[in-house]
Amino acid sequence: MLLRLCGAYIASVIEMKFEDFGLADPIMKALAAKRYENPTPIQQQSIRPLLEGHDLCGIAQTGTGKTAAFALPSLDYLVRNPKARLPVTCRILVLSPTRELAAQIGDSFRDYGRFLNIRVATVFGGVPIHRQIKQVQSGVDVLVATPGRLLDLIDQRAFHLNGVEIFVLDEADQMMDMGFIAPLKRIVK
Ligand code: AMP
Repeated sequence: MLLRLCGAYIASVIEMKFEDFGLADPIMKALAAKRYENPTPIQQQSIRPLLEGHDLCGIAQTGTGKTAAFALPSLDYLVRNPKARLPVTCRILVLSPTRELAAQIGDSFRDYGRFLNIRVATVFGGVPIHRQIKQVQSGVDVLVATPGRLLDLIDQRAFHLNGVEIFVLDEADQMMDMGFIAPLKRIVK
C-alpha cells in the first residue's frame, strides 16, 4: 500500500508541467523560449507555495534550478500586482553572498522576465558605487545585492527598503559562513 502511494506520488511529480502552476502568460512564453519542459524537483516543491504567498526555506544543490524556483513566482507576483515604481527602492529584494552569484541571479530575472516590463538592477562591492546609485535612483522592480553594498547604498541615503514586498536570501548558509550575520540582521530589521 505504502509502496503504491509512493509510486503515485513519484509519478505525479515526474509528470508535473509548468502549465500546472498557472503562471502568467509572459512567464510561460519565456520558459518556452528557454525550452524548459518540466520543473526540476526544487521547482516542483517550491513554486506553488510561493505563488500562494507562503514563506519558504528551500534546500537543494547548486545547479538544480533554485533561481527559477524563487524567480518565477516572484515575477508572477509582479504581473498580478502591477504598481508604479517608487524612487530609490525595489519591490523584490534578493540577497546573495557573492558578486558572481548576484550577477547570475540578475541575468536570470532579466531572462525569465524578458516579456515583462520590469527593471532589474544588480549591485555589489568592489566596483565604484556611483553607477549603481544612478541605476536605482528612479526605482527598480528587482534588486539583487550583496549585503555590504546594499547597506552602503542605504547609509548614503541612495536606497531604502520601504518598498520591499518579497525578500529572498539566496545561499543563506553561505552568507552565514561568510560572517554576514550582522549586516543581514540590519537589513531584515
Ligand atoms: P540554477 O540552479 O538556478 O543555477 O540553474 C541551473 C541551470 O539549470 C541553469 O542553466 C538554468 O537555466 C537551468 N534550469 C533551471 N530550471 C530548469 C528547468 N526546469 N528545465 C531546464 N533547465 C532548467
